This record gives sequence, C-alpha cells and structure tokens, in this order.
Amino acid sequence: MTGSLHATRAHTDWRDRAACVGEDPELFFPLSDSAAFAGEESPARALCRRCPVVIACRDWAIDHGEDHGIWGATTAAQRRAIRRAVRETSPPTA
Ligand code: SF4
Repeated sequence: MTGSLHATRAHTDWRDRAACVGEDPELFFPLSDSAAFAGEESPARALCRRCPVVIACRDWAIDHGEDHGIWGATTAAQRRAIRRAVRETSPPTA
C-alpha cells in the first residue's frame, strides 16, 4: 500500500512485512462506500488474510482507533465492535 501505510505512519517493524505494499490504496480506503469494499470477499480483505502481519495490523488499528478502511482484515465497524466488547468486559480500574 505505497503512499498510505508506509508514507504516512510512524515506522514500525510489522509494516515492513505488509502484504499490501505496492497495492492501490483505494482497495483499502475507497473513495465511495460499497458493499464490495467491506464484504468478506473484498480484494483487500482477501489480501489481508494472506498477510504475515495480519494480527499485528489488526491490533494496531484497534489500539489506535483507526475508524476508516480495512486493517488486518477487519472493517471499521468490526473494530468498533471489538473495542466496545473489550471495554464492556474489562474490569473497572481503581
Ligand atoms: S493485514 Fe492487510 S492492511 Fe494490514 S498490513 Fe497486511 S495486507 Fe496491509
């Protein structure tokens, strides 16, 4: 994903092994919404499922509140649901 992940984010090791390097950023961040973009069979999510760093990518996007695009084979709605579930199941602090 030249020009998106690597060019605009701080360097981290897992990005060096990303399967999306060189792919069209619009696969992961389309200019318009469509069911094909977020569906299980979308090209972006298919590529993510073959990516060696899919877990690190997904966890980074969840931890950093990424609310757009496909990261780690997840949609923004899925990441929001994961964050909500973690909040609801985490023990209260102090
Ligand atoms: S999991 Fe997907 S978005 Fe993340 S680095 Fe791999 S191919 Fe790119």
